[in-house]
Amino acid sequence: MEAPVISVIVPCYNEQQVLPFAIPKLLSQLKMMIENNTVSNNSFILCCDDGSNDNTWQLIEQYHIIDSHIKGLSLNSNRGHQNVLMAGIMHVKDKCDAAITIDADLQDDPDAIVQMIEEFKHGSEVVYGIRQSRRADSLIKRITSKCYYSMQKLFGLESVANHADCRLLSRYAMECLSQYSEQNIYLRGIIAQMGLKSSKVYYNRLARIAGKSKYTIGKMLDLAIDGITSFTSRPLRIIFITGLLLLLLDIIMSIYVFLSYFGHNVIPGWTSLMLSLWFLGSLILIGIGVVGEYVGKIYVEVKHRPRYQIKQVLE
Ligand code: UDP
Ligand code: MG
Repeated sequence: MEAPVISVIVPCYNEQQVLPFAIPKLLSQLKMMIENNTVSNNSFILCCDDGSNDNTWQLIEQYHIIDSHIKGLSLNSNRGHQNVLMAGIMHVKDKCDAAITIDADLQDDPDAIVQMIEEFKHGSEVVYGIRQSRRADSLIKRITSKCYYSMQKLFGLESVANHADCRLLSRYAMECLSQYSEQNIYLRGIIAQMGLKSSKVYYNRLARIAGKSKYTIGKMLDLAIDGITSFTSRPLRIIFITGLLLLLLDIIMSIYVFLSYFGHNVIPGWTSLMLSLWFLGSLILIGIGVVGEYVGKIYVEVKHRPRYQIKQVLE
C-alpha cells in the first residue's frame, strides 16, 4: 500500500510564543514519518492563523520559506477555534488522504499522531484523541468540563468522553463534514453524529509549552452553548413540560384555595390572587414552551443539514 498523504492542521491564535517550539517538533515528527515511509513525502503541516494580532503569521511565513512542508492559511479575523479548524479541514480535504487536527500548544501529545495514522491505515475514518489524564489542566477546567458533559448527557447528546479537538479525519470523513453548512459549528457533536467507523488513541494531556490559554471564559461559554443548542431542542421541551407540571399543580392548588375559601379562613382577595397567579404562571410557561418547540424546529430546518450521506453505490 502506498504511504498516505497526511496533513497536520494546527489552529493558531496569538501563538508567537508557542510556534518556535511547536513547528520544529511537529516538523521533525513529520520528517521521521516520511523517512520510514509511514506517510508520503507530499504530507504537510498547515498552520491556520485565526486572525492573530501578534507575529503568528510572520512566523508561519518564515517557517514556510525554510521548509515547504510547512504551509499556511490565515483568516481575516478571529473566528474562533471551531471555525478555524473547519477552514483548515475544508482547505486540505482534496489535498490529502487524512488530516489530523492538533492544538498549537501541543497539550495533546504529538506522539499520538503516529498511532492515529496506524488506526487510519487499519480502516478508521475517524480517530479520536482521548485524554487519559488531565492533571495538567486546571482544577476549574476539569470540574466545569465534567459538569458540562453530564449536562450534555442529560439533554440526550452523545459525546466521546475526554475527547476534544485532537483527531484524525479521513478524506471521506472530511467530505461528509463539508456537507454541514451550519453557522454554529461544534465539531465534536457533528463528527460523533456522522457515525463513521472510528477508533480511539489515548495520551496524557500535557501542560501548554508556552504562552497562556486563548480560550477566554466567553469563548468557552460560546462553545458550551453551541454544543447543546446546535444539537437538541430539549431545553425548550423541558420548559414546556415544566409548564404542564405547573398546570397540574395549579389544579391541586385550586382545590386547596377553594377549600380555604369555603372554610372562611381567608382574607378578601387572596383566593382570586392565588388562582390567577398559578394559572397564569403555568399558561405563560406552556406558551413559551409551545413557541419554543416551533422555534426549535425552524432552527433545525434553517441549518440545512444533510439528511443522509451515501456510504457506497453498487453500479
Ligand atoms: N485558538 C484559535 N482561536 C481562538 C482561540 C484558540 O485558533 O479564538 C487555538 C489556539 O491557538 C490553540 C487551540 O485553539 O491552538 C486551543 O486553544 P487553547 O490552548 O488556548 O485552549 P485550552 O487548551 O486552554 O482549552
Ligand atoms: Mg491548550
